[in-house]
Amino acid sequence: MRMSRYFLPVLKETPSEAQIVSHRYMLRAGMIKQSSAGIYSWLPLGYKVLKKIENIVHEEQARAGHLPMLMPTIQSADLWRESGRYEAFGDEMLRIKDRHDRDMLFTPTAEELITDIFRSHVNSYKDLPLTMYQIQWKFRDEVRPRFGVMRGREFYMKDGYNFDLTKEDALHAYNRHLVSYLRTYERMGLQAIPMRADSGAMGGDNTHEFLVLADTGESEVFYDSAVTDLTFGDREIDYDNVEQCAGVMEEFTTKYARTDETHDEALFNAIPEARRKTARGIEVGQIFYFGTKYSEAMKATVQGPDGKPVPLHMGSHGIGVSRLLGAIIEASHDDKGIIWPEGVTPFHCGIVNLKQGDEEADGACEALYKSLTTSGLEPLYDDRNERAGGKFATMDLIGLPWRITVGPRGLKNGVVELTSRRTGESEELSPEDAVKKVA
Ligand code: ATP
Ligand code: MG
Ligand code: MG
Ligand code: MG
Repeated sequence: MRMSRYFLPVLKETPSEAQIVSHRYMLRAGMIKQSSAGIYSWLPLGYKVLKKIENIVHEEQARAGHLPMLMPTIQSADLWRESGRYEAFGDEMLRIKDRHDRDMLFTPTAEELITDIFRSHVNSYKDLPLTMYQIQWKFRDEVRPRFGVMRGREFYMKDGYNFDLTKEDALHAYNRHLVSYLRTYERMGLQAIPMRADSGAMGGDNTHEFLVLADTGESEVFYDSAVTDLTFGDREIDYDNVEQCAGVMEEFTTKYARTDETHDEALFNAIPEARRKTARGIEVGQIFYFGTKYSEAMKATVQGPDGKPVPLHMGSHGIGVSRLLGAIIEASHDDKGIIWPEGVTPFHCGIVNLKQGDEEADGACEALYKSLTTSGLEPLYDDRNERAGGKFATMDLIGLPWRITVGPRGLKNGVVELTSRRTGESEELSPEDAVKKVA
């Protein structure tokens, strides 16, 4: 992409309404524009990162054997009356009437709809297990939408649902989700710690939230610092292997890590004092096993091996896809701007031309652009006729992992400058070597 053709409405001033750094940088970098409280347009740069994050979620769900699908954003109230949640959801639910005066709503989550799909089509235990998910817009009329995409009213969420014959099978689905979520967040350069949580309106008693530690997080968390040493890494996982998934679950959830809702002073105080940590965290996902709560309320049964109807054991699992942009920025930035982890960066490399219009510099930039592109990378070439200082500031703000600076002086010696956004370190290299290093 060439900057001269891109839409990147960078703001020089810090917007006064933004209280936290991720919100400030997303506005300043021209990633989002608020359209009304808690509702945003995603401008090209923000949209690009959103899609990268979404793509990682899809890939990891596919790896775990979960099936993608898509359900509507507008739903009829009828199913929600069946489950009892039409009333229970309260003011967070955006209620709508259609022209026939029928009660509709904008989906805040989709347990009811998926259970209805399931009961219409699945009749036998032989069709189990089944896990389906979607990545779809949700609406919750939050009392205090704030912090940009972190607490929006409209937000993008992955929601998945498992249907199993027995509790044991459903707990395997739970563990499988935990494993796939660990991989998902790590690919985004994040450490998200599974913490024992409270199931609230969802029902059930088996639930973990995934929290990214950050001072601006809305949850208070308590944990044994040993949990922050755990990483999933690139270990091989067989998602059908019940013991292996249970082993990972145990490894990542045995040490004390809880949100304030389930915090237990006595257990916490049993941890050696030096390892006892209290901090703030951002909830980027949650998994639930809630048993037969919805299947019984909505009569979702299958015929069991003995021919008798069995209510399904279910769970649901969410990832805050749009909130993740904020969480990643909170976890990875400096005073100049965002520092994107490689896995989610909108472009791999920036090219800054120090002397636009200089034949040699222009030619070298074009050549670099081409060879980066043929190596399968996406460069962002700042080809505008602007001061170098302004170009650098923009590149630092939007946070691409690498910047290649091209100027007549270096070119005389056959070199360009390659700078790492994270370390700030620069080195002079031939253009070929710079491309190799980025790739
Ligand atoms: P919170 O406690 O932050 O209100 P929640 O527990 O109500 O979130 P879930 O129902 O667990 O949310 O939804 C799954 C995920 O969707 C959450 O873990 C979070 O990452 C994301 N999410 C929930 N509400 C919002 C929101 N208003 N804006 C952006 N993301 C959200
Ligand atoms: Mg909520
Ligand atoms: Mg929550
Ligand atoms: Mg939650």
